[in-house]
Amino acid sequence: MSAVRTVLGDVRPEQLGVCDAHDHLFLRSPQLPGQELNDASAARAELAAFRAVGGGSVVQWTPYGMGRRAADLPALSRTAGVHLVCATGLHQAAHYTPELLEEVRGRLAEVFVSELTEGIGTSGVRAGLIKVAGGFHALDEHARWTMRAAAEAHHATGATIAVHLEHGTGALDVLDLLCGRLGVEPGRVVLGHLNRSPDPVIQRQAAEAGAYLAFDGPSRAHHATDWRMPDAVRALADAGHGDRLLLGGDTVVAGARSVDGGPGMPYLLRRVRPRLALELGEELVDRVLTENPGRAFAADWR
Ligand SMILES: [Zn+2]
Repeated sequence: MSAVRTVLGDVRPEQLGVCDAHDHLFLRSPQLPGQELNDASAARAELAAFRAVGGGSVVQWTPYGMGRRAADLPALSRTAGVHLVCATGLHQAAHYTPELLEEVRGRLAEVFVSELTEGIGTSGVRAGLIKVAGGFHALDEHARWTMRAAAEAHHATGATIAVHLEHGTGALDVLDLLCGRLGVEPGRVVLGHLNRSPDPVIQRQAAEAGAYLAFDGPSRAHHATDWRMPDAVRALADAGHGDRLLLGGDTVVAGARSVDGGPGMPYLLRRVRPRLALELGEELVDRVLTENPGRAFAADWR
């Protein structure tokens, strides 16, 4: 049976409730020195704030080696009453030391499968998705390596593959590789950051292929493109792709948390939801927040 793999175990897709389909409670990268999400009490407060505005679940896209603090997640989920899904996978090379990359070379798919089926480290917490990353308008050797491993782990487990698109670009390159060459069904792929490169034709092509499109940037500043998001989402819905849409906050640095004065997770429900309701109607926005994530992240686990 199809289930979403949360940090507290597998649940039916419809149990997710209102879902933030791309966000982070914990994240650490050499690219973001001094801005780490590494504070469990701030994470607890952020989840409580999300719960207070009606949030029911958060899908965390922080992959391997970026400070996931997997062992802390079950207690956070229980305390807040919010379902949490966490990720395995690998980000772009720039987010790691050469030593860490060397350590997983040759066994990356194995690491992903083990985190999805047995657990992350000694935490006993299983990952529920595989996160990888593309590059700017292209895929370098690191991206192709991680995507091959992701596809292998997907075929072994059934897990969904979620992709960070660099500045929202490269969607079709990613689909060509993952789906065209590596045999992943497009409906098992979630493309992230589509709003950062608001080309309506590319977005429609990705949706027509069957991939999920995550519009997931309100916790970050993308001044040039943020205001186009409602139009982009409406264009996709008008073309019949309302069932391919996902929404997320993507809180990546401490200052973006609502409890630290930023928009954080609650903003998705406080402001994005009513704004999109003006474009799509409340009924479709509700389905995008409650039904699409369950379908996108549920798997027939093997
Ligand atoms: Zn993210």
